[in-house]
Amino acid sequence: MSPLLLSLAFAAALAASTLVKFWLSSRQIRHVAAHRGQVPAAFAGSVTLVAHQKAADYTVARSRFGLLALAFNAAVLLGWTLLGGLNALNSWALEASRMLPEAWQGMGYQLGLVAVFVLAGSLLDLPWELWSTFRIEQAFGFNRTTLKLFFADMAKGLAVGVLMGMPIVAFILWLMGAAGPLWWLWAWGAWMGFNLLIMVIYPTVIAPLFNKFEPLTDLALKDRVEKLMARCGFAAKGLFVMDGSRRSAHGNAYFSGFGPAKRVVFFDTLLTKLNGSEVEAVLAHELGHFKHKHITKRIVLMFAMSLAGFALLGWLAQQPAFYLGLGATPNLDAPNDALALILFLLAGPVFGFFVTPLASHFSRRDEFQADAYARAQASGADLSSALLKLHEDNAGTLTPDPVYARFYYSHPPAAERLAALGAS
Ligand SMILES: [Zn+2]
Repeated sequence: MSPLLLSLAFAAALAASTLVKFWLSSRQIRHVAAHRGQVPAAFAGSVTLVAHQKAADYTVARSRFGLLALAFNAAVLLGWTLLGGLNALNSWALEASRMLPEAWQGMGYQLGLVAVFVLAGSLLDLPWELWSTFRIEQAFGFNRTTLKLFFADMAKGLAVGVLMGMPIVAFILWLMGAAGPLWWLWAWGAWMGFNLLIMVIYPTVIAPLFNKFEPLTDLALKDRVEKLMARCGFAAKGLFVMDGSRRSAHGNAYFSGFGPAKRVVFFDTLLTKLNGSEVEAVLAHELGHFKHKHITKRIVLMFAMSLAGFALLGWLAQQPAFYLGLGATPNLDAPNDALALILFLLAGPVFGFFVTPLASHFSRRDEFQADAYARAQASGADLSSALLKLHEDNAGTLTPDPVYARFYYSHPPAAERLAALGAS
């Protein structure tokens, strides 16, 4: 592998992915704007023109904002890599670590580099998140968070990130340096163990840091949900209502955790919008994902892809051309593991972008299966009316560009979902 060849391949992939993203979003904006004037015939009786136009305006506003963010992110990525940003940060971190006691220099330098890189990335993202939350979401009446809560969330997120993220990063960096040529296998094992731990403790330890969870008190709904779960052969350790309305008007329901720690969580926003039988249908859809083992399959896929990723990193980290081709000079007298890790995380998604349509395709197939399960265990009509209400409340467009939807949509467009639900 020659550095120049890698530089060219990376630049070409970045240009191609940016152009494709730009093309898709422009299509989406044009298509949605062109269909703004009229509610599609299939929804004429159930969706008002006002709601349809709000959805169109919301989609266009978000997509236009997305175009700006797209250009910005491509420039930042180019800045980190080929234009030498990470290389400059690396020299600085190396220099700064010389102030540490000698035994700490190697790890101190590497953790410092990762920490400053992550911090810089968050700062670059911050204005975009503020604008998205307090301008766009606000303008369409979805935002419920305040600046105070926004920054409190950020501080908590940072604390959780440092407390949980730093030890695992340090451990992986240590393995990279100390575990020999098969370090990537050990690192993969550590990373998987860490992910499983997060999945187990997320519902009971992490999520409560950000939201309040209270047992479901609506007895009629509780009875309905418990009957559904018994019918489907599920046990959960509790039914909870989460105060999602503190931050956003968007509604949701999920089933989280593993084994005995499993719990059903309803956003309070969902319960205020849907009636009992609609909530039951939405939950039946979530249970469908479990019944069809979609969650397990996704976890297994994630394990397999991580293994391939670590194996690839194990090889790339040995190649000087990997660093040079992405705009960084490998260190001669310090470990290169943190540098390799960051470059890999920067460049990987650029190449990985091109499998998006494949992932979207399989995700939509899973959604259809879960819908079919919900239709069998609860009611297709209730799920349809729930989906329509949620769609309208989230101002989802009913007229997405077909190519855009094929490429990105993890859930089938509303028209296709409702058609499939009514088909039996
Ligand atoms: Zn689903």
